[in-house]
Amino acid sequence: NPDRRWEMAVTTLADGRRLVRLEDRSSAQAGERMRTDFVANASHELRTPLSALIGFIETLEDANGADEGPIRARFLGIMGTEARRMQHLIDDLMSLSRIEADRFVAPRDAIDLAALARIACAEIEGGGKAGGRIRCTLEAPQAMVHGDRAQLLQLLHNVIGNALKYGRPGSEVAVSVATADGNVIVAVRDEGEGIPAELIPRLTERFYRVDPGRSRSLGGTGLGLAIVKHVVERHRGRLDITSVVGTGTTLTVTLPLALIP
Ligand code: ADP
Repeated sequence: NPDRRWEMAVTTLADGRRLVRLEDRSSAQAGERMRTDFVANASHELRTPLSALIGFIETLEDANGADEGPIRARFLGIMGTEARRMQHLIDDLMSLSRIEADRFVAPRDAIDLAALARIACAEIEGGGKAGGRIRCTLEAPQAMVHGDRAQLLQLLHNVIGNALKYGRPGSEVAVSVATADGNVIVAVRDEGEGIPAELIPRLTERFYRVDPGRSRSLGGTGLGLAIVKHVVERHRGRLDITSVVGTGTTLTVTLPLALIP
């Protein structure tokens, strides 16, 4: 198989016999390639806004103090947007590496996901970008999990934020929290453009976007669902995405219900 990589080590024993050790290094090599791709992608994503920033700074410097009020204000506006884009990306990169570093530490805090969903919806509405579009239905009065509050709040922000970003303007985003069969089920449904079925498995890859231009113009980093996937894995949960192109998408997170008195 040309995709597999073997490493061979030969040791000569005291009695002259030879010991041959064959090791399958394919997965180590694949891991290494993923890491290199990730660094290359992250560097590219950071360089784009940085180049724009440097370009505008140099243009302003060349103007050498000549007062071009409106142009200056417009350039500063663009520079602010690009700098915030970088900040957002660095925040997401740091979140991702923190969640990965915590991978083997089971989260132990008692978290009520229904209450947390209510907080996330209120925070997003308070941020002023939702325009009253979120409908939050808490079917379970209490939905306790063993969890990491900050990470679960970020998961809710990312998923609800996506539903708003990729939902049709003015359409509703439905957030629900229920319990069933020993699980807490958080579902976020939008009435949006939807995602072709064959692309769904790729959405949680770092920096994968269905439409990169659209994601960037909406302020996306391409890391939101990678963060969601890692948080779900750390909480021993499941992530399901179902979508109908032209109708909308439902993202469901299922986490084990904690029996907390
Ligand atoms: P981004 O920052 O680009 O939104 P994400 O990792 O959160 O990155 O999502 C990856 C991609 O998945 C998005 O660029 C978008 O193409 C697609 N996507 C995510 N959520 C939805 C949704 N609710 N409806 C349609 N497409 C979505």
